[in-house]
Amino acid sequence: MSRKILVLPGDGIGPEITAEAIKVLDACRAAGLDIELSEGKVGGDAIDATGVPLPDETLEAAKAADAILLGAVGGPKWDKLEDISKRPEKGLLGLRKHLNLYANLRPALLYPQLAEASSLKPEIVSGLDIMIVRELTGGIYFGQPRGIEQRDDGTRYGYNTYVYDEHEIRRIGRTAFELAQKRGKKLCSVDKANVLEVTILWREIMNDLARDYPDVELSHMYVDNAAMQLVRAPKQFDVIVTGNMFGDILSDEAAMLTGSIGMLPSASLNEQGQGMYEPCHGSAPDIAGQGLANPLATILSVAMMLRYSLAEFELAERIEQAVGDVLDQGLRTADIAYAGTQQVSTSEMGDAVVAAFNKR
Ligand code: NAD
Repeated sequence: MSRKILVLPGDGIGPEITAEAIKVLDACRAAGLDIELSEGKVGGDAIDATGVPLPDETLEAAKAADAILLGAVGGPKWDKLEDISKRPEKGLLGLRKHLNLYANLRPALLYPQLAEASSLKPEIVSGLDIMIVRELTGGIYFGQPRGIEQRDDGTRYGYNTYVYDEHEIRRIGRTAFELAQKRGKKLCSVDKANVLEVTILWREIMNDLARDYPDVELSHMYVDNAAMQLVRAPKQFDVIVTGNMFGDILSDEAAMLTGSIGMLPSASLNEQGQGMYEPCHGSAPDIAGQGLANPLATILSVAMMLRYSLAEFELAERIEQAVGDVLDQGLRTADIAYAGTQQVSTSEMGDAVVAAFNKR
């Protein structure tokens, strides 16, 4: 049966990079993948067309899709919108919420050809391959009550609630253990159990789950130490699992270890395996429309889609190998170019990946 993929190009460089990812999906189709592609609007693009960042039509199409490929949303044009509920980012948050995409998978993988691009010494990052599993629909970003209030004496205070239900911890824990089983069989759970009760419960549940995954070695680390270890000795990690806020920060830190934000894909999954796949970067309005954007993060997001939502493991690997091949050929978009490499445009990079894919 043909699988449905919804493409949401979005804003800024979104349309340019998704166009290259579609070329790769077309190459997969030519190699036998049975998919049906459709396109929709989200973010600023949707605001311009319909007045809202997540039109009903897009949401319905997203619910019916097996997987969604998103470019990026946002840009200066919409930053001045006073009604926050109508900002482009609300389109993304709405999709996460309505589809219940609770598991955010963010690999930080350093292609050996790009070891020089990292701000850390090559020997510290060379061969880096970490998977950060961030809980995405709970924790302090969503906890109630929250607000800014005024005391009787006129001073104000702000507050948020850091809360996790047992089932939310168990669910993200299982996702992380299962991923660790398929990788290096090491899972590090990051918390702040010396200070926060909610993460004492988190730790207890991770320990409880570990009994079901005897082949995975579970360790625990406080978040402050994890932030330090990521820049001190990042290769000690295989899979990291953590809550929404800690994951937000640590996954950006891990991303920077690899040097270029233009190389990093991500997946957000729900319990049915339905997923939204997108590059980690934003809409890069500063380079939009100039053929400068690196499409590889989006192309690698297609590889994640094939692996995690469509169970097409061989095609996923073939795309990743094709990306390695073009880097071996010395082809680079501007963000990862250095002396001795050949600078190519967004579309030339996409074409090169397709050519390498077809050769494999
Ligand atoms: P950004 O990631 O868009 O850009 C940061 C820097 O990285 C810029 O210099 C940009 O040119 C560069 N860059 C990003 N992606 C690149 C690529 N593929 N190739 C080459 N260079 C690339 O972050 P920002 O500038 O803080 O945000 C710009 C807009 O994107 C804002 O409106 C923001 O809200 C939005 N944003 C969207 C998402 C998303 O859609 N998931 C995520 C982050 C930011």
